[in-house]
Amino acid sequence: AASAQRPEEVIQRYMEVVTGVPDEDCIICMDQLSNPSGYETASTEEGGQSILPDTVGKFIKCGHTLHMLCMLAMYNNGTKDGSLQCPSCKTIYGEKTGTQPKGKMEIYSIAQSLPGHPDCGTIQIIYSIPPGIQGPEHPNPGQPFTCRGFPRFCFLPDNDKGRKVLELLKVAWMRRLIFTVGTSSTTGEPDTVVWNGIHHKTEMMSNLSGHGYPDPNYLDNVLSELASQGVTEDCLKA
Ligand code: NAD
Ligand code: ZN
Ligand code: ZN
Repeated sequence: AASAQRPEEVIQRYMEVVTGVPDEDCIICMDQLSNPSGYETASTEEGGQSILPDTVGKFIKCGHTLHMLCMLAMYNNGTKDGSLQCPSCKTIYGEKTGTQPKGKMEIYSIAQSLPGHPDCGTIQIIYSIPPGIQGPEHPNPGQPFTCRGFPRFCFLPDNDKGRKVLELLKVAWMRRLIFTVGTSSTTGEPDTVVWNGIHHKTEMMSNLSGHGYPDPNYLDNVLSELASQGVTEDCLKA
């Protein structure tokens, strides 16, 4: 639904026009902000306000400045989901979504404890994604993609923090952020479903792979990976 918004409106929702242009460079085009953006103003639909090449914008929360047309070009190059990410500090405006293909996320409870979490049971997440055809949001639209090692089994301690991570992973799943289609850095295979920067523990009773337990920092690390995709505790309050 968010993608129905005009790109110019998305930019204008999260950036305000700066009048006194700072003596800085635009982080996207690297040219001075006092020079116009190299991108051209798109022809405006009726009622819409056009963004001119010399318009400099400032993000409403983080305050970083850049050419609004450069930001518009970056937005148009992406998934156009109604969200923006500041290219300087990575602050997310709106709801960032990803390109995860259709599939299933299932949750089970296991009585056995994880190494390092002796006082509680275990949450098991099972991700299943079947192979399919890449959409326009993927690297090679119309070509097939493969799915290796599915279903993938993942584990969390069944304590307060683990359950919080689970709720945030559900949000990330709904926003299509857990997996993407790309080239596997493990196998080198292109056009396959791969993890997307939110680490999961796929080994339950040891940590031979580095993707297992014990790992005292894991829950904090995954919370910050979720936050860098815009998935925070605030998402659970709404
Ligand atoms: P990738 O190799 O491109 O890596 C992306 C991210 O996933 C990296 O951050 C990496 O650290 C992390 N990662 C790598 N191996 C992992 C693992 N075993 N558990 C949890 N995280 C892991 O992404 P990918 O190709 O999706 O990752 C490899 C995973 O896919 C592994 O779980 C592997 O078992 C599975 N796999 C299985 C087969 C198979 O035929 N059984 C084939 C390919 C991949
Ligand atoms: Zn610029
Ligand atoms: Zn910023």
